[in-house]
Amino acid sequence: MEDNRSKKLVVVGGGIGGALLAKSLQFDVDLVLIDPKEYFEITWADLRSMVEPSFSERILIKHTDYLVNGRVITSSAVNITDKEVLTEDGQTIVYDYLVIATGHKDPIPTRRKDRIEQFQQDNEKIKSSNSVLIVGGGPSGVELAAEIVVDYPEKKVTLVHRGPRLLEFIGQKASTKTLDWLTSKKVEVLLNQSVDLNSTSEDEKVYVTSGGEKIAADCHFLCIGKPLGSSWLQESILKECLDKKGQLMVDENLRVRGHSNIFAIGDITDVPEIKQGFLAQQHAGVVAKNLKLLMKGAKESKFVKYKPSSTIAIVSLGRKQGVLQLPFATFSGCIPGMIKSKDLFVGRTRKTLGLNPNPDGN
Ligand SMILES: Cc1cc2nc3c(=O)[nH]c(=O)nc-3n(C[C@H](O)[C@H](O)[C@H](O)COP(=O)(O)OP(=O)(O)OC[C@H]3O[C@@H](n4cnc5c(N)ncnc54)[C@H](O)[C@@H]3O)c2cc1C
Repeated sequence: MEDNRSKKLVVVGGGIGGALLAKSLQFDVDLVLIDPKEYFEITWADLRSMVEPSFSERILIKHTDYLVNGRVITSSAVNITDKEVLTEDGQTIVYDYLVIATGHKDPIPTRRKDRIEQFQQDNEKIKSSNSVLIVGGGPSGVELAAEIVVDYPEKKVTLVHRGPRLLEFIGQKASTKTLDWLTSKKVEVLLNQSVDLNSTSEDEKVYVTSGGEKIAADCHFLCIGKPLGSSWLQESILKECLDKKGQLMVDENLRVRGHSNIFAIGDITDVPEIKQGFLAQQHAGVVAKNLKLLMKGAKESKFVKYKPSSTIAIVSLGRKQGVLQLPFATFSGCIPGMIKSKDLFVGRTRKTLGLNPNPDGN
């Protein structure tokens, strides 16, 4: 059997894509994972942690818990050459193979314990408010509104969204069902409007929308989506491989176009499909196989091809309900709730990383 353990693989980005890829190749190569945080965060379970901070204990997983045979560098990558990755803290990491998995940029704390504290503070903010304003009607805004009204039904929640419908990343039917659900829970939803938060301070407790409406709220949460994590590549050897949106253009084997030893996975890629964590996991599986083939010197025709997925997405609506979009139908209610909303795929994701799904035995 070929021994590739002297080959250097650098994975940049420790979200689900990068974490899973690093885990699966840790015994095959000399592996380095670069991430600005010391932990992997199950991002799609964040909003539950805002209403139930103890939930965050299971969704924040130190990289060293699942990577027992690789090196973790806790810093951001700031540039790459054709042989090295440069990090913000001044390190130069040599690679033979590189995987970029920097998904979305989120300025969250480096240390796990500080992130847990942030969720506790968010929860205190919710608990001490009678009314909450949520700005943004994408998946984060919708799921947060739902978490709050389900766990704290006495709170008045207002959701303001700039676009004409909620959840614009999926179909109209899903938007309508979500709007109906939120309205039935007495969430006030204002569409086609924005809120200029610079002109309002939380102390004033009155927010004015672009449509001139006044919203009284004791606190607000901004859920307007995060920027792609590719700005650091704009002056690098990959600058020509970024499309207009800042996504990395990849071929059918998930190799960055024109670079035989550089791959990209997850939300950062231009693969034409909805950006989802379960798809980032599939990308990681394809790239793990292709890296092994590449290291073996296999012909390119043997490489695994990635086929973009059709439109499947689930948005949770509190702990028991949700909206599920399949390619030919959209459902709302308890069935999507049973699939996603109870545990938000946390146990399953922990298991995929080789960890106990319920470390506290609950
Ligand atoms: C509210 C909500 C609900 C969702 N629900 C689901 C769901 O039910 N199912 C599902 O499959 N998906 C869901 N998603 C989508 C899912 O969260 C993403 O598709 C997934 O997290 C993408 O994973 P990733 O590894 O590509 O990137 P990310 O999770 O964005 O991770 C990127 C990593 O790269 C790191 N990074 C960034 N820049 C740098 C740099 N310069 N150097 C080093 N590291 C860097 C970051 O710190 C981070 O660790 C949901 C998303 C939202 C917002």
